[in-house]
Amino acid sequence: MKKFTFTLMAFVTLMVACSQETVEQAEADPIEDGEAVVAEEGNEEEEAEQQEVNEDLPNISILATGGTIAGSGSVGTNTTDYQAGDIAIEALIEAVPEMTEIANITGEQIVNIGSPDITNEHLLTLGNRINELLATDDVDGIVVTHGTDTMEETAYFLNLVVKSDKPVVLVGAMRPATAMSADGPLNLYNAVLVAGHEESVGRGTLVSFNDRIASARHVTKTDTTVVDTFVATEEGYLGRIVGGVPHYYTEITQSHTTETPFDISDLEELPQVDIIYGHQNNDPYMLDAAVENGAEGIIFAGSGNGSMSSVMQEAAMEIMEEGMPIVRASRVGNGTVSHKDDYLTADSLNPHKARILLMLALTVTDDEEEIQEYYDSY
Ligand code: ASP
Repeated sequence: MKKFTFTLMAFVTLMVACSQETVEQAEADPIEDGEAVVAEEGNEEEEAEQQEVNEDLPNISILATGGTIAGSGSVGTNTTDYQAGDIAIEALIEAVPEMTEIANITGEQIVNIGSPDITNEHLLTLGNRINELLATDDVDGIVVTHGTDTMEETAYFLNLVVKSDKPVVLVGAMRPATAMSADGPLNLYNAVLVAGHEESVGRGTLVSFNDRIASARHVTKTDTTVVDTFVATEEGYLGRIVGGVPHYYTEITQSHTTETPFDISDLEELPQVDIIYGHQNNDPYMLDAAVENGAEGIIFAGSGNGSMSSVMQEAAMEIMEEGMPIVRASRVGNGTVSHKDDYLTADSLNPHKARILLMLALTVTDDEEEIQEYYDSY
């Protein structure tokens, strides 16, 4: 009975939040202003309640970026027709009051958009804000709410640039907040649990989704609509959440966070890296277009073991001779691309994660051997 009351209340809170959202979202445009907006407080009573810090609990900061977890639709039974990034952080937190029993929660709206709209600028803002928060004694862990479509790109970026051992956990939802059986509230609760758990320390950036805990290095979205979309097919999950307790079973062996040389604190932008998809009848004009439009590196999502057609290879060689790195990844979705003479290879990173690493690598070096070492290590 208690549970039913909560679910209904959460749903009503979110529906009310959706109708108020236009005003709130208009206020939250931190990227244009150049800084993140701290979540607005509720009424005075709520404020007093929020400020009561329980010193026995971890302090967790939730940084909200939008996505389906903050999505709203008009029909509870429709899980595909909705507006992503529609509900503000305050409402997301209010909808899961149980979080206050496991952590002292604060929230910030970094941006409120669908994740296909996340840009390099958003990545830098988010990464720098996380480093700023984690450098203080007041924050023990971070939860980032994010759209699922490009979550693995942001997660892998943070896995490479966060300079702290404290947990950073990405979370989202496959069903909008207004859907029947929305997965967002429990996913969010679990992410806070994971971020505040001592065993999450030092494991790199994590993705907590559908009762599983995965490494940002390995996890990928594998399904367009179902709730168990995030899988680390070959390497498996790091752990799972059972009965409100995170259980870890494996570890990431690649270096991450404090072990990488990437420092984004003074960066205003990241180098442009484009992805070109391999297929039959491939025409090299896509390579030329990337170069003409300012690419500083290219990821080739090749067939099989990073294969390239003969005409593409010829064009790629010419481009590489002028000093532009071309990294061969695979469009297959699984497996490691073996080392190839003259080319860089992406190890087991999928093309979109390979792009993240090349952008960061180019901020440090243009030495191809060094870049290959990064691919082999991170
Ligand atoms: N299109 C949404 C997004 O990535 C999908 C989601 O969050 O699941 O923002």
